Amino acid sequence: MNRVNDQMKKYGTNRSVIRDLFEYGNQLRKEAGPDHVFDFSLGNPNVPAPEKVNETIRELLASHDDIYLHGYTSAQGDPNTRQAIADDLNKRFGCDVKKENLYITCGAAASLKIILTALYQDGDEVIAFTPYFPEYKVFTETTGAKLVEVSSDPDTFQIDFGLLERAITPHTKSLIINSPNNPSGVVYTEENIKKLAALLNEKEKEYGHPVYMITDEPYRELVYDDIKVPFIPNYYKNTIVCYSYSKSLALPGERIGYVLVPEAVDQSSDIYAAVCGAGRALGYVCAPSLMQHVIEKCTGLVSDLNEYKEKRDLLYNALTDMGFSCIHPDGAFYLFVKSPVADAGAFSEKAKEFGLLLVPADSFGTPGFVRIAYCVSTDMIRRSLPAFEKLAACYK
Ligand code: PLP
Repeated sequence: MNRVNDQMKKYGTNRSVIRDLFEYGNQLRKEAGPDHVFDFSLGNPNVPAPEKVNETIRELLASHDDIYLHGYTSAQGDPNTRQAIADDLNKRFGCDVKKENLYITCGAAASLKIILTALYQDGDEVIAFTPYFPEYKVFTETTGAKLVEVSSDPDTFQIDFGLLERAITPHTKSLIINSPNNPSGVVYTEENIKKLAALLNEKEKEYGHPVYMITDEPYRELVYDDIKVPFIPNYYKNTIVCYSYSKSLALPGERIGYVLVPEAVDQSSDIYAAVCGAGRALGYVCAPSLMQHVIEKCTGLVSDLNEYKEKRDLLYNALTDMGFSCIHPDGAFYLFVKSPVADAGAFSEKAKEFGLLLVPADSFGTPGFVRIAYCVSTDMIRRSLPAFEKLAACYK
């Protein structure tokens, strides 16, 4: 008799293509030596957190007792941490967030899983724009809801409003938007955010119920060349924010982020209660205490953006000069490159022959592209260029 949950077995067995490539890289490093592997698979930020983060950790360890540092906090998060986050958001975005609107989580993945669990029931639909973070599918399917993919404009990777209008139905409970985007690096323009807000307002009136916008924002601060990322609750009332410090403070292994349910959101206090319930049902208990205290002192800081910009410019310019076609990324730390052949998996396999680990983007809902995570050392990017030249030559 089968004693295993088959859905969970499927997620555990059919692992993420990104993780598989990363494991392959570890193996190859052992076999061929680290200098022969150019691993662009994982979004593991290599630009360190601002020094204040480590200083704060040292100060905390020196001056506080173990229970303060390592004990449980309240499930929704330490009140001082939530107040510090609210103050920072209000200062930067001119909004009116209160600590009671914030729920501290173990990063954006947990934030998303918690909000989807809080909102979703069987038969509900959530819209995501391609390309999207592949875990959305796992997080959605495990609530019994359906992920509806809407293709983005193929030239700009901005929202295709014609396709979106056709995809929204009375079953659409929310949309997930991710800007700056993983994997395209695209930042949605203010004009498009306003257009999206207007469309959703119209649909809410037509259906007589809210359509929530869930913003997945781990890259909010990672933008270059003075590009501005609109703070979406200021444009659309029914916005719920999922944030993470994984990328802005280079802390992905420390698991810290939050869900923001602004007061203006329809049924805000019910949703907040359901967020607390979902955190409980999923067994999160509370986010890591030490990191919560670090965030109290460091929220709003960001790693050195000039370093990321240097890497982006170096790789983008080199690859486009070689003839690769790639959308110019304004944010995050990924290049989204069109595969020279229809099968991006075959292209990724060919790249492996030169030690290049590039993620085929089929699982992001966009076959025919690969993702290159350039959050790696600038030295490795420079050393990888001859390998990219060889790869390009295969398709000339
Ligand atoms: N959402 C997007 C778009 C991401 O790229 C990632 C991680 O790469 C996550 C969510 C999950 O981030 P976290 O490490 O905060 O769970």
